[in-house]
Amino acid sequence: MNKPQKICVIGGSGYVGLITGLGLSEIGHEVVNVDIDRARVDQLNAGKSPIYESGIDVVLRRNLHNGRLRFSTDLQSSVKNSQVVFVTVGTPSLKNGQIDLSQIIEVANQISSGLNEYKIIVIKSTIPVGTIELIKSILNEKAQQDCFDIVSNPEFLREGNALKDFFFPDRIVLGGDSDKAFSILRYIYKPIINREVSIKGIQNISKETDPVPVIQTDIASAQIIKYASNAFLATRISFINEISGICEQVNADIKEVANGMGYDSRIGHSYLEAGLGFGGPCLEKDLRALINTVDQDKYQTDLLQAVLDKNDRQVASVVNKVEKLLDTNLYNRTIAVLGLTFKPETNDIRNSLAIRVTNELHKRGAVVQSYDPVVNNEILSVDPNLKPCDSAYSAAQGADVLLILTGWKDFLHLDYKQIYSNMSNPAIVDSRNLLVQSDMIELGFKYVGMGASR
Ligand code: NAD
Repeated sequence: MNKPQKICVIGGSGYVGLITGLGLSEIGHEVVNVDIDRARVDQLNAGKSPIYESGIDVVLRRNLHNGRLRFSTDLQSSVKNSQVVFVTVGTPSLKNGQIDLSQIIEVANQISSGLNEYKIIVIKSTIPVGTIELIKSILNEKAQQDCFDIVSNPEFLREGNALKDFFFPDRIVLGGDSDKAFSILRYIYKPIINREVSIKGIQNISKETDPVPVIQTDIASAQIIKYASNAFLATRISFINEISGICEQVNADIKEVANGMGYDSRIGHSYLEAGLGFGGPCLEKDLRALINTVDQDKYQTDLLQAVLDKNDRQVASVVNKVEKLLDTNLYNRTIAVLGLTFKPETNDIRNSLAIRVTNELHKRGAVVQSYDPVVNNEILSVDPNLKPCDSAYSAAQGADVLLILTGWKDFLHLDYKQIYSNMSNPAIVDSRNLLVQSDMIELGFKYVGMGASR
């Protein structure tokens, strides 16, 4: 890195903002992460991450210590003192599936007062086509016409793998119309593009040696690349869940089927795990937003709708498996739930399907004892009826069914003999096909997975 850029990341205590600020400071830039959440800003300045990601605290403390990264609530002065402003605020779904743009609009208004000289505004938040034009018009109300360029730079990180994905991405997408802005962004990302990043404790598993592909395109295409990528991943999950249902009808093993399919180089193995479906803050929201991008009277997105509908049915199908295994309704039955986050290796419970399952279990009258490796008492804010336990063994105490909802690897290494003796009725519903059926049956459990997996 020749000359570090002065960068401001707005939304800097959130998932994407924190990873962006950490990543950009780690590769040499001077970064200030701005957020309205003062408690998180204070916590981060004290070197403690509110986000659970492997390796995050080490990178945070190193960059706080060397002075390249700090956290602030002062947006105006942070923008004024920066050459490049990354926007990473949240874009949650509204009830009708459209995107709530209030955070983006608020930030655009605030940035417009800080445009004292030429700056590049980089939008990392996932926003529908047309929103960049809206941001431009807000900025133009106060700024001079040539005072800024906007680039869409969608984020593709996977929670649980976020730092690796930042430093070793499959591609970088830049949407815009300014060569000057493109070349400054290429300069900012240069160590990543040239694969020069080497960080102790964060392993690069990519075998690629060529530079990271940079897709330089127009703004609308950049945004659709992001939405279409998430829609495609969601489609793979609903597709394999559809095949999983067929496997149950004909007694074929979905794990074998997915494995056999995945060896086809046109298909690949990832996102082919049958289970509870896709949850979390992005896939469902982005799929709904993509559907809402077009007027359904003019163009019907039936395939995308079917992907959503299939996913919506997964929660009930898992709870029905619990009922079927018990051969009775769930009233007053005790269910031990393992895993509450929307996926393993994160503490994110936003739109977690595990929580939708616990809600459904409560609706049907069950008592739910839960355990998650990283999230416990805080879960009561989203499901106050849960009984969080301090271990999988205490969650299993007296339970009629053990229900695995998140595929944490920790659950592979539990002492299932002990769990067997703790339960009043040793039965397992494994909604992530994590365990080996024959091992559990040998221990004496009744076991049901997804898609007749064995
Ligand atoms: P988040 O809710 O974790 O973070 C948003 C942050 O913005 C919060 O800390 C919030 O306090 C802050 N904020 C809101 N208004 C602000 C303001 N006026 N000034 C300063 N800060 C403000 O959200 P996230 O999960 O990081 O997602 C951010 C965006 O990135 C979304 O558009 C999302 O779709 C997209 N995205 C998320 C992921 C992911 O895995 N989480 C991956 C790719 C893309």
